[in-house]
Amino acid sequence: MRLQEALLAWYRKNARPLPWRGEKDPYRILVSEVLLQQTRVAQAIPYYRRFLARFPTLEALRDAPLEEVLKVWQGAGYYRRAENLHRLAQAVERLPRCFAELKRLPGLGPYTAAAVASMAFGERVAAVDGNVRRVLARLFARENPSPKELFALAEGLLPEGEDPGVWNQALMELGATVCLPRKPLCPACPLKAFCQGQGNWERYPRPRRREAPEERLAALVLWGAGGVYLERLSGRFRGLYGVPLFPEEELADRAKAFGVAPRYLAEVLHALTHRRLRVKVYGAPWEGVGEDPKGKPLPKLMEKVLGKALPLLAHAGVVPFPHAKPHGVEPR
Ligand code: SF4
Repeated sequence: MRLQEALLAWYRKNARPLPWRGEKDPYRILVSEVLLQQTRVAQAIPYYRRFLARFPTLEALRDAPLEEVLKVWQGAGYYRRAENLHRLAQAVERLPRCFAELKRLPGLGPYTAAAVASMAFGERVAAVDGNVRRVLARLFARENPSPKELFALAEGLLPEGEDPGVWNQALMELGATVCLPRKPLCPACPLKAFCQGQGNWERYPRPRRREAPEERLAALVLWGAGGVYLERLSGRFRGLYGVPLFPEEELADRAKAFGVAPRYLAEVLHALTHRRLRVKVYGAPWEGVGEDPKGKPLPKLMEKVLGKALPLLAHAGVVPFPHAKPHGVEPR
C-alpha cells in the first residue's frame, strides 16, 4: 500500500469526531483554525460553538463591536487572535478562494491560509503546523528542517485525486494522536513501514526549547465607590480591561498617583507562550468611582488577580462581601 493510502485509510477509521470535521464554510474553518493556534482541541470546542452561535457569519462578526467579540472570546486566551479575526472581517467583503490571496490577509500566516484553501476550496496546498512538522521530520529523518524544506516535503506528499483538505487533516491528526511529541505510538502508526525516523524518533526534529523568561510585575486593586478601578490595558492585553499592571519597581509611583497606601495581598503566577508572569497583587481602598468587572472583557490573568484580591479585601473589610467573587471565580 502506498504511504498516502495507508494514512487516509487510517484517518477514515480513526479521526476524532470534531465539530469542524467535514466543514466546507471557509469562515467556520478559519474560526476553528485560529482558535486551535494556541488552544488545545478539547478546550477549543466550547469556544468554537459559542463564537459561532454569536457570530455565525463574517458579516455578523463585522457588525459586532470589538468589545463584544472579546467578551465572547473571554477565557480562550490570546486575545490578539480575536482582535485579528475582527479586523479581518472589517477588511474583506468575503474570504478569498485561493491560498495566495488568503495569505495576504491581515493576521493569516501560510499555515492558516493553506488550511482554509485546502479544506474549504479543495486547493492542492500543504498545511504545515507543529504536528505536521514533527511527523515530517520523523518520517524523513530531518533533525532541523527549515520551513521551506518542510513545505516542499509536505507538497511532495499531497496525493493525486484525493481531497487535499482531508489529506492535510489526516497528517495533522496523526501528529496529534499517534506521532506524539514525547511518546509516539510507533507500533500503531499507519506510516511505520515508511518512517525513516522510527526507532530514533527522539532525534527528529531536534527540540528547540528554551526556558520562558520570567517577568516580575505588580497589580494594583483599588476599591472605590461601586467597584474596582478598571482601565483599558495595553501591550499584550490590548483592548481588554483590568486593574493597573506594571513593572514591580513602579509600585511606589503608581500608589502615589492614586493617593493610596496599598498593602501586599498575594502572588499570582501566569504562563504565556513565551513568558512566565510573576505578579505581586496589592490592594487598597480608594476615593474614586470604580466599576463591576462583570461584563467587561478581562484576560485570564486579571480573573486570577481579582479572584485572589477581592476575597482578601473583603476579609479586611474594604470590599463588601457580594463583590468578593467576580465571575464566580474562586480564590486560587
Ligand atoms: S512510525 Fe513513529 S515516529 Fe514514525 S511517523 Fe509513525 S509515530 Fe511518528
